[in-house]
Amino acid sequence: MTPEVLYNIRTITYIIASATFIIGLKRMGNAKTARNGNLIAAVGMTLAIIASIFIHVNKVQTETGVAFEQVETPGFIYSLIFAAIIIGTIIGWLTAKKVQMTKMPELVSMFNGMGGACAALIGLMEFHHNTGNTGALIAIVLGLIIGSVSFSGSVIAFLKLNGTMNKPVRLPSYNIINTLVMIGVFAFGAYMIFSGTESSTLLYLLFAAALIYGILFTIPIGGADMPVVISLLNSFTGLAAAFGGFLYDNKVMLTGGILVGSAGTLLTLVMCKAMNRPLSNVIFGAFGGGGASAGDGPDVKGSIKDMSVADAAVLLNYSKKVVIVPGYGLAVAQAQHIIHELEMLLEERGVEVKYAIHPVAGRMPGHMNVLLAESNVDYGKLVEMEEINPELEQTDVVLVVGANDVVNPAAKTDPSSPIYGMPILEVDKAKHIIVNKRSMNAGYAGIDNLLFYDPKTSMLFGDAKKALTELVAELKTM
Ligand code: NDP
Repeated sequence: MTPEVLYNIRTITYIIASATFIIGLKRMGNAKTARNGNLIAAVGMTLAIIASIFIHVNKVQTETGVAFEQVETPGFIYSLIFAAIIIGTIIGWLTAKKVQMTKMPELVSMFNGMGGACAALIGLMEFHHNTGNTGALIAIVLGLIIGSVSFSGSVIAFLKLNGTMNKPVRLPSYNIINTLVMIGVFAFGAYMIFSGTESSTLLYLLFAAALIYGILFTIPIGGADMPVVISLLNSFTGLAAAFGGFLYDNKVMLTGGILVGSAGTLLTLVMCKAMNRPLSNVIFGAFGGGGASAGDGPDVKGSIKDMSVADAAVLLNYSKKVVIVPGYGLAVAQAQHIIHELEMLLEERGVEVKYAIHPVAGRMPGHMNVLLAESNVDYGKLVEMEEINPELEQTDVVLVVGANDVVNPAAKTDPSSPIYGMPILEVDKAKHIIVNKRSMNAGYAGIDNLLFYDPKTSMLFGDAKKALTELVAELKTM
């Protein structure tokens, strides 16, 4: 095959791969097609990788037009590439297989960090290969800065999520310091581009400064806001990869980077909207980790009512309509299978059961949908917040399992609450509310919940899996 044909084959492969990414993303929007969408995009990525590794043809401008020249790749380079692919695949496969759903944000932050590191390494490698092309130099320097910020920021996010760094570090006037450091890093980058310097020392200093900025940017943010930050860093990585695509004239890298960048940005905005907080409040707002502590919030009046498993079973058994509200605690307890069993048992007895899904229940968007899909809950039973809220008034029992903030009425009634304005599941409208959690401890926002003191609410204390298992056993005796 001539170099020109090979070049065209590679271009067509890149177009096909780009299309698979778009189709894959689209299919990931629905739980039924998500797995297949992921597979389609993975096949596209495999094709793109094969084409990149095996077809080394450059298109060059000559005096008479364009020419295609094949570049020979030494055998030992292939050995290095395949060794890296094999090691990476084994590590990636094993970690993804082993990871629990509650640890997913951690895994995403680590994978994202690796993407940022790749973009930064491209910048470090290509800086000295560049021959006076300013456009390429801009892509190199921006890719280096953004990739480095994304890498170090993701590592901090990972450490916060796995509990190693469990307190936000807030230097005095950290917002001002961070803004100045960010301006400094970009000014340094501009100097590297326009001064014509070839200094390796300056290049590594820029790399170090960008890494430091990534750390400074992430350390003040509360651990619980990390999913939003990871999504934001994810969009940075996409941007950095897109610069790489521009630099290598690699269309699939460019499309992939743009898709990751825009998907990450949209996800960040969706999460902020669902929490009714602007992104600036997530980054600068000192929320969700030290700012508020359990017991903060409304002045709680009244007492709580404890309930036994037997009482809960009777109440549920004689209901016509039950709405289950799953939350973060359900995921932690891994109680998705037993809740499905409870739902089927109630349905067998003629009780109508639905699940109310809050957009930010759990610790990542779609957390509850994925969790319940794992135990084969019928997708039609999962009802979004806007749709279920009007039905709650006609609901006999709402069973809240390991959810807290997403059902906290303070979001509607207390303007001083940190979650004021966040749309919630209005479960206090139901005839009875059963709340299952282990204690009176606060949820993610660190605030007390008036719902627990509502005369219609009964607390069913205990680990979700254990309490629901006992509930199912009790129902079976009835
Ligand atoms: P919360 O974090 O508000 O509450 C979870 C509750 O689960 C806790 O109060 C805890 O109480 C209980 N719990 C923990 N472990 C168990 C267990 N083993 N068995 C039973 N209960 C348990 O969760 P929600 O889902 O209500 O709200 C999610 C929060 O996360 C929101 O504030 C949201 O803004 C935030 N967030 C969500 C994101 C997303 O994308 N989904 C992203 C960023 C933030 P106890 O310790 O007493 O058991």
